[in-house]
Amino acid sequence: MYIEEHVPLAPHTTFGIGGPARYFARVGTTDELKEALAFADEKNMPVCVLGGGSNVLIDDRGFRGLVLQVAIEGIDYEIEGSQTTVTVGAGESWDGFVSEVIDRDLWGVENLSGIPGTVGGAVVGNIGAYGQVQSQTFAGVDVFNTHSKTVERLHVTECRFGYRESIFTLEAGKYIVIHAVYALSHQAQPDLSYTDLQKMFAEQPNPPLRTIREAVLHIREGKFPDLLKEGSAGSFFKNPIVSKDEARKLLERYPAMPQFSMPETDGVKIPLGWLIDHVLHLKGYSEGGARLFEKQALVIAARRGTSASAVRALANSVREKIFNECGISIEHEVKIIS
Ligand SMILES: Cc1cc2nc3c(=O)[nH]c(=O)nc-3n(C[C@H](O)[C@H](O)[C@H](O)COP(=O)(O)OP(=O)(O)OC[C@H]3O[C@@H](n4cnc5c(N)ncnc54)[C@H](O)[C@@H]3O)c2cc1C
Repeated sequence: MYIEEHVPLAPHTTFGIGGPARYFARVGTTDELKEALAFADEKNMPVCVLGGGSNVLIDDRGFRGLVLQVAIEGIDYEIEGSQTTVTVGAGESWDGFVSEVIDRDLWGVENLSGIPGTVGGAVVGNIGAYGQVQSQTFAGVDVFNTHSKTVERLHVTECRFGYRESIFTLEAGKYIVIHAVYALSHQAQPDLSYTDLQKMFAEQPNPPLRTIREAVLHIREGKFPDLLKEGSAGSFFKNPIVSKDEARKLLERYPAMPQFSMPETDGVKIPLGWLIDHVLHLKGYSEGGARLFEKQALVIAARRGTSASAVRALANSVREKIFNECGISIEHEVKIIS
């Protein structure tokens, strides 16, 4: 393993923004991971873990410690009755994994087609889209515990998955994901509950896996910026979850606003994009090269050459305006690295 110095981080992210890492190591095995962490310990430096860089915004000054990019690869299959258990390296491309399991006729992650980043990043952020969430088929994970300096296996019940959160965000820095394990089904179980999928498959209630993947990829094309033309990290903000009482008050003020109950939290999810669009009328609003994406206002798109401070200034203005207008505090989904 080679530890590089003063490595520009922007090319390692989908925003294409940010300064250099003081040190940078790409680790392909658990031993390399340990070696890189020992190096950081020796120099008493902070460590930042990076996957595909599709859910981060790196500060313009970069990161003064060691950036450790997890590149652990490999996908193993074990058939067990009506399921296949798939063990996948944290550095594998998430969408490469989805495409590969679809080729093997395995159900459970097809609606999560087209999400950028690595398997490790997907576990950490508990990604979700079009009616499916990563944690639905997740069985467990091998992690490196940076406190005890040992490899551990965590069962799904220990991972505290929630809406875009997990033990890995709640106890940030403690664990590094090495492998994730998924239990995928051999039996067709299409989830077409998401409105756009319902419409597309109104005449075809049991589409094959590959067709669902293609439909999801097609829907996504219209919803996110083209990363070849501009930068983005997907939804910049989380949809806020408020109490039932707060949700009722919001509905009195904005009767057309959709709401989604979250039985697992006893709260109600408020579609922030709707508020940005229909209450603040800010869809497409831009500041300093960063703008709220026209087709989905939760997403920030950034022209080439935009600074991280411009993106943060836009995000802060949205946060302030939402608080002043609707009384809701919103959180970033994107992790800011500084
Ligand atoms: C165009 C676009 C569309 C998107 N659409 C969606 C969507 O539909 N649904 C959705 O949920 N997300 C979406 N995202 C967000 C993003 O793709 C996911 O959050 C993705 O899973 C992040 O993975 P990554 O490897 O890029 O993680 P990174 O961005 O590199 O890192 C994200 C966080 O995970 C940590 N991390 C990464 N790897 C590891 C590891 N091995 N061990 C421990 N910590 C780690 C990092 O430290 C950081 O805190 C989208 C992003 C873009 C750019």
